[in-house]
Amino acid sequence: MTLTQKPTRQVRRALARQSQTVPTQRLTEEIMTKGAARAAAATAAEAVTKGQLTDAELQAWRTDFEARLQTIQQHPEQNLGHIEEAVAAAAKEPLRLLTQRAAQAKANATPCQCLKCQHPLTDQKYLSRAIDSRFGRLAIWRRYGWCSQCEVWQFPADHALGLARNAPASPYVQEISGLLVTKMPPEQAVAVAQRLGLDLSRCRLDREAHRQGLKAQARRSESLAQLDTWEGLQKLARDTEGPPSQPFTLVIEIDAWNIRERDDWGQTQALREQGKKVERWHWVYMATVFRLDHRGQTAGQRAVITQRGYVATRLGLEALLPQLYREALQRGLGQAQQVLVIADGAVWIWNLVQDRFPEARQPLDLWHAEEHLWAVAHDLHGRGTPEACAWVKPLLQQVRSDQTSALIANLTELKPRLLQAQQKKLQTQIEYFEHNAHRMKYKEVIDARKAVEAGTATAEQLKLANQPLGSGAIESTCRQYQCRFKRTGQFWTTAGDEALLCLETFWRNGRWHELYPHAKTNVALN
Ligand SMILES: [Zn+2]
Repeated sequence: MTLTQKPTRQVRRALARQSQTVPTQRLTEEIMTKGAARAAAATAAEAVTKGQLTDAELQAWRTDFEARLQTIQQHPEQNLGHIEEAVAAAAKEPLRLLTQRAAQAKANATPCQCLKCQHPLTDQKYLSRAIDSRFGRLAIWRRYGWCSQCEVWQFPADHALGLARNAPASPYVQEISGLLVTKMPPEQAVAVAQRLGLDLSRCRLDREAHRQGLKAQARRSESLAQLDTWEGLQKLARDTEGPPSQPFTLVIEIDAWNIRERDDWGQTQALREQGKKVERWHWVYMATVFRLDHRGQTAGQRAVITQRGYVATRLGLEALLPQLYREALQRGLGQAQQVLVIADGAVWIWNLVQDRFPEARQPLDLWHAEEHLWAVAHDLHGRGTPEACAWVKPLLQQVRSDQTSALIANLTELKPRLLQAQQKKLQTQIEYFEHNAHRMKYKEVIDARKAVEAGTATAEQLKLANQPLGSGAIESTCRQYQCRFKRTGQFWTTAGDEALLCLETFWRNGRWHELYPHAKTNVALN
């Protein structure tokens, strides 16, 4: 039979049968091979007792980066940046392998017993999971089992490694997702993460950051629960009280700003057609707490506060109160000789202060008081006119020298000479000063500052001069939060913005390590 001859009918049929059976056979083979590979991987994983690279792997790494650096050497236009990129790229795989093995060793060393009752787990099995780590994707095998006492399946190694259920992020990726999304919108964060060597999709980053926000909220609730028990309060006091210090004043500043929220995602069009509003504004309440002796000046005369606490929530005043109280306790409320609460004169603030800090001195923010006078000046004489300036000047002086009754008398005298509409506006301002008169005490501090400048200050005046006259510290903090939370075209959901506010506040308070114990070195922010 030559090759050109047509095969017999019998042979053709046999060939056709064979070609049909081949794919099934291949599939079975593939499954068998995969199964065998899996079993081999499990066996290999189980044998890992420490994170290390073999000599061959180290040699391969060395060869790789030497080749990469050689190429850079030959290109005069490539600079140190190229070297940094090349070394990082060459190191990524060996570092990934090393991390995977070290994590595997840790997982293998974790006893397979219940996390709650320490009972050995039954029906034990070995299962792998994929983890997104700082150096790329890892496959880690862990033993799991059933606790007959607690009636639950458990993965003790996941707990030991700091992994969450159903979330692929390693603790470092958890942290960075949270950090990036509190600082910038997710679409930017994805690109920034990529440049830093982290491959995260927008969707993964979003989900992970939200998960981290919820974790922060849970941690915050735990710390607030300390206020409910005597033991908790005792512990808080022990943790707060450092070595005995000089008597100090504790300053609390409170303010609020608006955030734009949307509840009904995906229904914008339908709601618009029904003539309903799709967005609404919501208050974010904020406060800052610091010791006056932690407030100083830079060489450029800029006020700096070396240690301070922050509180931020959009869940209403009821949520703000315990958070602020706890932060104040932590910052030394129990030891403070004097407490100073500075705010802009909003009624809700003073009610809150009366409730939680009844002993506190409550000066009204000087700049707000002056703003109210400027409002009258502009109304009477026009915005920015020399007449407005001339009119307001002696009145500002009265504010600064604590002559509030004289100021109110002056404003009241003015009333009969005005048109009705102006009278009404003026009356509102008069009432503002009447309500806040007892909080308008500035002279002592202003005199002390003058004395310091003249070099004639007494010891008492030196301390007084440092007292803030306004709530600038909290206002600048509000502006910083707004930079992130109030971008054009940005909306937040109630759950989303509280979670991120909470996460950002952990960062600012220098308590990041409470969420991420591996992040021990933390930058103190002001
Ligand atoms: Zn148990």
